[in-house]
Amino acid sequence: MESAARELRGVLVQELTQLEKVRTYDELRTQVNDIAVMLAKRMRDAILDDIDFAYRNGYRSAYEEIKGISKAKAPDMMPEDLDVLVLLKNEGALYNAYNQFQSILTDKLNQTIMAGIAEGSSIPTIVQNMRQVGIGETYKLTRIARTEITQIANEGRLRGYQRAEGRMKMQFKYSLSVANDARACDAHKELARRMPSGGMYLGDLIMLQQEIGSKYRMNLRGHSLLHPNQRTSLVRIV
Ligand SMILES: [Zn+2]
Repeated sequence: MESAARELRGVLVQELTQLEKVRTYDELRTQVNDIAVMLAKRMRDAILDDIDFAYRNGYRSAYEEIKGISKAKAPDMMPEDLDVLVLLKNEGALYNAYNQFQSILTDKLNQTIMAGIAEGSSIPTIVQNMRQVGIGETYKLTRIARTEITQIANEGRLRGYQRAEGRMKMQFKYSLSVANDARACDAHKELARRMPSGGMYLGDLIMLQQEIGSKYRMNLRGHSLLHPNQRTSLVRIV
């Protein structure tokens, strides 16, 4: 995600350097839509790639962690696991964020131009301000993506463990490692408090986090480990 955002900022700078050659405010305005469409498309592609990678990589790494499992038969995902991946790409906070990105960016770039015209700014000055707006919006989307993608990697891990357990016909114990600091919310504090030191079976752990999630009125998707804006990760204990 970081590299995608970096690349995108490079593209943005390039595009806007082209814009500095524009001679009239009107010409500037006609370019806004194209820039927003292009940036939104690249951002969306980068995010979808990252979701895919995080989920598959989480799945595979969790599966391969289990000792004695046949690595030669590294698993193709089950159809239901692939269904979850499709779902993760098509709903939720990140999906909403990148879908709104184009129109928010268009609005903000247009506002920047209008403000510049009102102040009698030169075209290069307005283009500079547009660059700041573009970079700022890209950062915002990257921040949302980073937390959501951590969550998606956890979801992949959970399913990789489930698959390995099925193959090995045995159950392991797991824990949620919750970043328990001043930023942790009450739900996560309770989750950390109720997590036995010896870990829990996967089914019990899913039930516990869903119980706590509904107590604190969180809308959890799939096997979400509570809301995504916390650094929580799934770990296998024994
Ligand atoms: Zn929390």
